[in-house]
Amino acid sequence: MIPRAEWLAAAQSLPVGGKRRIKHGFEATAAMDVWNNDDRWSCYCHRCHEGGVVYKEHQRVRRAVVEPDRVSPVPAACFRLAEASAFEQQQIWSLLCRKGCPPGVIPEETIWYDRTVRRILLRDEDVCLGRAIDPNRLPKWLPYGNWHGKPMIWATRTGAVGTQAADSAESGLLILTEDALSAYKVAKSIDTYAPGSSASVVATLGTTITDRFLPYCLGRSAVLCMYDGDPAGLRGYRAMRQRLAVWQQPVVDMRPEHGDPKNNDLAVIAERLEKWL
Ligand SMILES: [Zn+2]
Repeated sequence: MIPRAEWLAAAQSLPVGGKRRIKHGFEATAAMDVWNNDDRWSCYCHRCHEGGVVYKEHQRVRRAVVEPDRVSPVPAACFRLAEASAFEQQQIWSLLCRKGCPPGVIPEETIWYDRTVRRILLRDEDVCLGRAIDPNRLPKWLPYGNWHGKPMIWATRTGAVGTQAADSAESGLLILTEDALSAYKVAKSIDTYAPGSSASVVATLGTTITDRFLPYCLGRSAVLCMYDGDPAGLRGYRAMRQRLAVWQQPVVDMRPEHGDPKNNDLAVIAERLEKWL
């Protein structure tokens, strides 16, 4: 059963009798159908092969304003990595190491864990990203917390001003990755080999630059695309180049030949970025 917070608001935003295909969490494509029928709201995700249903007779129907980016709150029972059991810590590190992020790459205060949802939580104040421990669990990543009004991105290194400020006058180098772990790896590489650099590193959590994030990508000395070295990464790079070209914002393809940036050693990443830092 898919938790209500992941689909109910979308179903409720439909007219009665309506159906829509939406994205579930950070899944790459819209694979979840949501329905608003006479007597029930329901969903079915064709990737997760799971669904959910809420019968209207048990619901007090309220005309609440539906936030398009509504997500579950940060799990109340989550705790810091250091408070996890030895077994849990071993599971967490084993996953992060397999994904190219051994201890030292991600700041440890960022890493939390939630036992009930069995997800590693990368936490930044009131928002977090949850990565399933179980390799077969979909979606692999889920956002949590208060994203209202914020672009759905994950910044791991900020050059000068935070990416939240609407009137941010950032003009330095911006490096974009697909996923948060790659963004931590690239940030660590810069902090290690070029600590004085003002480069910002941000994961776009997928291969799309959203309207809300677009302003932060403009007026940069350069935008370096470090999406994954696969067909989806290439399509993402081309779409980014085309989108930003409208605003005369140059984009440079810095994708690895194979695999994700996080699969590369810190030194290899730094060498690739050398002339930009
Ligand atoms: Zn799904």
